[in-house]
Amino acid sequence: MNDSEAATGNWERRWHPLLEQWVIIAANTTARPWSGLTAERKVEVQPAHDANCYLCPGVTRANGEVNPDYIGPRAMDNDFPSLAVHAPRPNGGSDSLLRREAALGRCRVLCWSEQHNVTLPDLSIEQMRKVVDLWCEEHKTLSADPAIKQVLVFENKGVEVGASNLHPHGQIYAYPFVTDHGRRMRGSQTKYAAENNNQSLLGDLLVHPDCAANLVEQSSHCSVIVPFSARFSYETWIIPHRKVAMISDLTDEELTDLAGVYQRQARRYDGLFQRSAPNITLLHNAPCDNSAENEHWHFHIAMQPPLRDLEKVKFLAGAEAGSNNIVNPLQPEIAAEQLRNCVIHS
Ligand SMILES: [Zn+2]
Repeated sequence: MNDSEAATGNWERRWHPLLEQWVIIAANTTARPWSGLTAERKVEVQPAHDANCYLCPGVTRANGEVNPDYIGPRAMDNDFPSLAVHAPRPNGGSDSLLRREAALGRCRVLCWSEQHNVTLPDLSIEQMRKVVDLWCEEHKTLSADPAIKQVLVFENKGVEVGASNLHPHGQIYAYPFVTDHGRRMRGSQTKYAAENNNQSLLGDLLVHPDCAANLVEQSSHCSVIVPFSARFSYETWIIPHRKVAMISDLTDEELTDLAGVYQRQARRYDGLFQRSAPNITLLHNAPCDNSAENEHWHFHIAMQPPLRDLEKVKFLAGAEAGSNNIVNPLQPEIAAEQLRNCVIHS
């Protein structure tokens, strides 16, 4: 290795302070010849209403219920839940090697609108704000259930990330335990606060003098960054400037700002990838298990596109599956620059 190559930051390992794991930045690998799978950039025109879509208004669902003629965002129970209050109770489970419990919890589906062909970037800011309000309401209601320990609101957008229904929608998993990432993020933020005069890990990352090149947008109440130790090529985090543990702790003004920032970031992805961009979006709220450590949690939204460029999908294959240490083939500061330069179409 020569010294000038090491100094550019495009080939090194970086510590992920929130997940407490190494990420390998290996932009030097992008020149590899590629004859593998490519993602099609086709633009399929969807109808405004699809009689075969179980999320559209007036359609009869798998459970026999008929969707009302709703307008705007709407939450409903997932007809095929992974976690449910009626999940079967297994016998036994006390053996430490064969531990098992009922898959209790809730799975919800959130339609962004009644229209089958309208994504979040397509909504007006008023409609987007209603979606943000639904995120807050659903999170608040589900996390108030003492049997629920963590509520994850998310969107799987696009066939590239396995979305099974093209009607733009999000989902909620309400878990009866604190998730693996929940434990890691809470532990790291609690430790950081203890060692840094009760400061917020994410708050300090936002204002770190060496992270100016990671900034995509700074709004009045939140900022968008490509994190220094991004695990995915164009991963971004939307972080409110004020530390709150839950999205519903944000003020009315902060939520309106968040709605606008979210849409602009989603539109940047659409511009960058020249299509309605596939993405995984995660609302990282604090667990709701009454642990005193939850007060150190700083709510943020993570957006993790599966694409590493216009055509290539990033697969988590052998190295990642075997180690849980992800190789990111793009230097985060370069990704931030590209996103900053995206023209935002509204
Ligand atoms: Zn639909």
